[in-house]
This record gives sequence, C-alpha cells and structure tokens, in this order.
Amino acid sequence: MNKFQYVKPATLNEAADILYQNGDEASILNGGTDLLVRMRDKMIKPKVVVDVKAIPELKELKYTEEEGLFIGAVVTMNEIVCSDIILEKYKILAEAAHEVGSYQLRNRATMTGNVCNASPSGDTIAPLYVLSANIKIFSKEGIKLVPIDDFILGVRKIALKPGEIVVGIQIPPIKGKNGGSYYKHSRRKDVDLATVGVAAFCNEGRWKIAYAAVAPTILRGYKAEEILNKLDVIDDTTLIPAMDAAVEEISPISDVRASKEYRFDMIRISLKRAVLAALEQYA
Ligand SMILES: Cc1cc2nc3c(=O)[nH]c(=O)nc-3n(C[C@H](O)[C@H](O)[C@H](O)COP(=O)(O)OP(=O)(O)OC[C@H]3O[C@@H](n4cnc5c(N)ncnc54)[C@H](O)[C@@H]3O)c2cc1C
Repeated sequence: MNKFQYVKPATLNEAADILYQNGDEASILNGGTDLLVRMRDKMIKPKVVVDVKAIPELKELKYTEEEGLFIGAVVTMNEIVCSDIILEKYKILAEAAHEVGSYQLRNRATMTGNVCNASPSGDTIAPLYVLSANIKIFSKEGIKLVPIDDFILGVRKIALKPGEIVVGIQIPPIKGKNGGSYYKHSRRKDVDLATVGVAAFCNEGRWKIAYAAVAPTILRGYKAEEILNKLDVIDDTTLIPAMDAAVEEISPISDVRASKEYRFDMIRISLKRAVLAALEQYA
C-alpha cells in the first residue's frame, strides 16, 4: 500500500474543503471494506484519505411520515439489519444488507459505501432502485438529491464531483399495501458476491423489478414489470412470461463467478423467487 495522509474532519464543511482542494488525489474512507482492498491491491493510490466517520450528520438513521427514511452514510449494514423501523417499513433493505459479506464485515460496511463503490453486484443497490431512493449529496454549494439511477453511471463510476460528499440515502415513504424482497444467487451461502440478484417490490399492485450482476450497472426490469402489472393471479405458471422477459432484458458477461449462459438461466428462477417472496410480504 502506498503512503498517504489520513485526515478525519469533524464537519461536512471541513470534509468538503479537503475534498475540493485535493480533487482526484483524495478518497473518502467509510467502512473501508472496498476502499482498503483497492488500495492494498494498488488499484488506487490516493494521497489523502478522508475518514468521514466523525461527521454527525452522517450518523443519522431516521424516519418521518413526510420524508420517509434517511440512512446516514456511515450507518453500518448491521445497524440496518437490526433497525426496527427498517424491519417494519422497508424490510427488503434489511434483507439485502444481511446478504453483504459476514457479520464482522457488516459491522464496518455501509450502504452508502456499497452504492458509491458502484459494483454491478452490490447487494443493496437493486433494492434501492425499486424503492426509488435518492442520494443526498453535500458540497459548499448546498445539498442536492440525486435519483439513484442517475447517480450510478457505470462500473465504479458515480456522479460525484470533487468537493462533494454523500451525506446518506433518502428513501420516500411508502403508502398503501406493499411487499418487497431481494433474492441473491451466489456460489456459496456466505461471503460471496452475487452471481445474479433480483429485487422485486410491489406497491398497491404496481411492480418494480431490478436486476443485479447481469449488466455493467443495476438494470430496471421494465418489461417484466409491465407483465406483472397486468396479472390478476401470480403463481408458478402465470409468472413464466415475466421470467422470459427478464432473459431479454439483461446483458450478462462471463467471469470468475459464472458464465453468461448460466446467468441467463438463473435470472428466470431468481425473478420467480424474488416475486413470490415479495408477495409473501405483501400487506
Ligand atoms: C470479504 C468481503 C466480502 C464482501 N461481500 C460483499 C457482499 O456479499 N455483497 C456486497 O454487495 N459487497 C460485498 N463486499 C464489498 C463491500 O463490503 C461493500 O461494498 C460495502 O458496502 C462497502 O461499504 P464501506 O463503508 O466499507 O465502503 P468504503 O470501502 O469505505 O468505500 C467504498 C467506496 O465508496 C466511497 N465512499 C464511501 N463513503 C462515501 C461518502 N460518504 N461519500 C462519497 N463517497 C463515499 C469510497 O471513497 C469508496 O470509493 C465485500 C467486501 C469484502 C472485503
């Protein structure tokens, strides 16, 4: 690992100044479970590492009926898994956070880090797509909210300019009957990235689907959604056209985890499992 300067600002303004002054030479350190691995492997060589864990606004986890859920940037996966309000109102997020790595890793890893790392197999990103999450960004110019699908631009590419820092993730309130689920298919049960992932969410009969690990970014399953929205009864048989649509919507590659042919096969059953599990939650 290269030598670097470590700084731990206490305020958002201080962090933004340091990030602005150092541009591409600065990296934000959150839980560090992605960043430190990339630094160790010399994939990145930041001169300044900005640890954001002391900034109070980033530690918030709160829910209001008007604005919905806010998950501060440094809130860990384990805090999300155990949060009563998330378990009650956004269970799909607790489920997805629980899929990340091991218990020890989840004590460090954050949802914001997962999103900012922008890996196609990031487990919490597809659920955030179906919940229409916004990324809350601070800079000296003020606060802005960016829809998650505008924030993630490609593999490890996000819409963040020098001097900007993610404060957290804002998820709109959900009104009416709803249910959601994230299904992760991986080579082994724990501590492995997704081979294929599907997030399914239904609110008042309207479906949202998102696929993980089957394209350079998370993909919305618009065709599958359209088919599901027209179904009066959802079961193993009526689901088949939506499963076929999922195959048409993805563009997977072959890599160390699976061949693209295997991913085409697995997207069908993953969609089915995610949808049926979402229906079980529907209330
Ligand atoms: C053994 C192991 C197993 C893993 N298993 C999984 C898994 O099963 N599923 C999965 O999805 N991931 C997995 N990961 C990847 C990683 O743990 C997750 O992506 C995690 O959520 C990253 O969060 P973090 O807080 O550690 O991010 P960090 O490593 O601190 O940061 C990640 C990236 O986000 C940027 N960043 C962080 N916070 C901010 C902010 N506030 N503003 C702007 N940019 C920011 C950083 O600069 C960096 O580029 C695994 C990693 C390891 C080492």
